[in-house]
Formats: sequence, structure tokens, C-alpha cells
Amino acid sequence: MRFLAILNPFTIVGREIASERQIEATIRELYSRKPHVLATLGIGLAGLSAGLSGAVWAGVLATLVAVACLCFRIVIEQLFLARSSGALDPKWIRLFVFGSLLSGLGFGLSAAILLYDTSAATQTITIAVACAIVQGVAGRAYMMPGTAFINIALVIGQLSIAAFAGGNYIFAPAGLLYIAFLTSFIVQMVNNRMCQLRAERTADRLFQEITEKNELLRIANETLATKAFEDPLTGLANRRKLDLAFAETLASAQQNGSALSLMMIDVDHFKPFNDTYGHQSGDECLQLLSRAISATVSGEGSLVARYGGEEFVVILPGENQGGALALAERIRMAVRLTALDALPNSPPRQTVSIGLVSCQPGSETTAEEIFASADAALYEAKKQGRNRVCVNAPACREQVKALP
Ligand code: GH3
Ligand code: MG
Ligand code: MG
Repeated sequence: MRFLAILNPFTIVGREIASERQIEATIRELYSRKPHVLATLGIGLAGLSAGLSGAVWAGVLATLVAVACLCFRIVIEQLFLARSSGALDPKWIRLFVFGSLLSGLGFGLSAAILLYDTSAATQTITIAVACAIVQGVAGRAYMMPGTAFINIALVIGQLSIAAFAGGNYIFAPAGLLYIAFLTSFIVQMVNNRMCQLRAERTADRLFQEITEKNELLRIANETLATKAFEDPLTGLANRRKLDLAFAETLASAQQNGSALSLMMIDVDHFKPFNDTYGHQSGDECLQLLSRAISATVSGEGSLVARYGGEEFVVILPGENQGGALALAERIRMAVRLTALDALPNSPPRQTVSIGLVSCQPGSETTAEEIFASADAALYEAKKQGRNRVCVNAPACREQVKALP
């Protein structure tokens, strides 16, 4: 930051890189009454010393001026705190600069009154208090250094005039030296403040980037988790999802003593379909048939999965043989009625064979046995001429029913 810019009383260090929140916090700190309370106490003590040593008028006058300054600072601090929220209006910065210059004049005047023609003890206390005031201003000068410089100059300037008038000609050059010392101190603090603001800005930007990247990562993970269990061609659950879901459904059916049915569905004569209409049409046909199957299945907790190739599996938790058989029939009809006219060369409608297996409540059958039974029922349906549903009981492996 250039030195001349620092001297401008309205300059707020790092304004161009600081956030609104940081600027607001800076101005709030500058408006704080605390340093003025301490300064008034110090002047009051020096005033008491003056009064005790005979300079009553000087003690009373200096204290009154300091109290008036303090009251003014309390009033403007209250006004600042009671302002309506939102972006900081520049008028609050102007009011702070005005208030700060007025207290520089006021506290400087108090100290000058106490320095002029009083006892040596009062002068010593006054200079100590004035140094404390000036040091306090310098310590906060990293925020608005221009205002602080003028404030310091007003205090030391008035003290120098009083000292000169009292015959002390060394005070003014000593005051100038003191200001020079404070200047190097303030410049160093301003540089540190700039470094701090830059570091905070970088940290904010990095935090923002990390938050955004985390959100992208979360979305990618969610998508990946969904895709990992999805068949890319039909959008149905894939084999991995089927295995997990079936193990869970079977365990809960056995634990709750509820029924469970499973059907294995296979498209009839699909190889010739592919050979005649092409693999692309075969894919589209599988998509249409899978949609027809899932649109028919609606039971709570039920799942339609692509088992592989042109085979599908439906899990029906809580469904007994009667209900599952009726549903299998509806699926068979839904496929039978699915038009394939939209495909190239308008292939004829397709059929499916379905192997159904139902576990009675309390059955201890394993997942492998249930799949093997469904497979056996499907084989039977194919053997009996296709486009039909066959039912098998997992425990006795005995075919119960075949519908044409
Ligand atoms: P069946 O009635 O005995 O089931 O006869 P099928 O011709 O359907 O049985 P097969 O097992 O001989 O042939 C299955 C065919 O399914 C083989 C393959 O061309 C076809 N197929 C399997 N997966 C896909 C796929 O993802 N896309 C397409 N287009 N065809 C597939
Ligand atoms: Mg097959
Ligand atoms: Mg087939």
C-alpha cells in the first residue's frame, strides 16, 4: 500500500480485497467506546492530581472536556450499533472519521490544559496518560491509519503548543521523534494487515472450492452407487442388486414367517428374433418387454431385475402362490400384448415363459434352492411349448401346475 494512500483519513486498509463482513467488523471495532473510557479515566486521574496540587480550574476543565468527548463517542457508537442491517453506508465511515478527529482534539486539549502551568507530578502523569492514548490509537491504526495519524498529530501537536507556552522548547522535537517512531510501527502493522486479509481471502476461496468439489463428489458417488446396481440396457436392477435384494428379502421372510414368491421369465425364441431383425432391434425389444414387465409389477417391496441375456427375475415378498400365479399370468399377457411395430421391419409380438416358485411361511429353503426350483419350473414351461407359466414348490421339487 502506498504511503500517501495510508495518510488519507478515509482509507480502510485492504478494502479492495476484504469482504463486506470484514469491513463491517473493522468499523465496529473502530467505533468501540472502550479506549475512550480508559482515556477519560486517565485524564480524570491527572485532573485529580492537578486539583490536589492547586490547579483546580485546570483539573476540572480538562476532566469536563474528556467526559464530553467520551459522551460523544458513546452516542455515535450507539447510533452505529442501532443502524439498519445490510451493506455498510459510507456515512458511517465519515461519521467515524469526524468523531475520531473530534476526540483527538478533545483529549489533546485536555492533556494540553493539564500540561500547562501545573505541578511536575501532574505533568508527569499527564504525559504518561497522553502516551497511553497515542499508543492506543497507534495500536488500532492498521485499520484506518490516516485517521489515526491525524488523531495522534492533534494530541501531540496541542501538547507541544502547551509545553512551548510553558517554556519547554524540547517537547515539540521530542514529539516529532515519537511520531516518526510510531509511523514505522504503523506502516509495519498495515503491511501485516494486508498479508492477513490476503491469507483470509485465499482461505475463503479454497474453502469455497472444496465445498463445491465435495458437492460434485457426492453427486458422482450417488450416481455411481445407482449405476453399480442398474442394468444399462433396460434400467432395471442388475444381477448384483438382485442377489443382495433377494438375500435380504429371504432373510426377512424367514424371520417374520411370511410368504415369498420368485419368478424367472425368459423370452421365447429370442435367438431367431435377433437373427431375423438384428441385434439392435433385439435390444429395443428387450427394453420394451422389460418396461411391460415392470409396469405390471407393483407390490410393496417387489423387485424386477434383469437376470442376464433375455431373462428377468421378479421377487415378490409376502406374496403366496395364488397371488404370484395371477401376477405371472398378467405379466405373460402384458408381454403378449406389447406391440413391436415401432421397430424396423415391424417384428411380430413376442411371448415369455415363466417359472414360478413360492415359499410357504416358515420355510427354511435356501436362495440357491429357490432359484434352482424357479429354473426347473421355467424349463418345464419351455418343454411344454412356451408362452406359459409353470409353478414349482422348492422343498419337494414337485411341479404343481402348468397353464397353457
Ligand atoms: P428359448 O425359447 O429356448 O429361450 O429360445 P431362445 O432363442 O430365447 O434361447 P437361447 O438361449 O438359445 O438364446 C437366447 C438369445 O438371447 C441369444 C442372444 O442372441 C439373445 N440375447 C441375449 N442377451 C441379449 C441382449 O442383450 N441383446 C440382444 N439383442 N440379444 C440378446
Ligand atoms: Mg434364456
Ligand atoms: Mg429365451
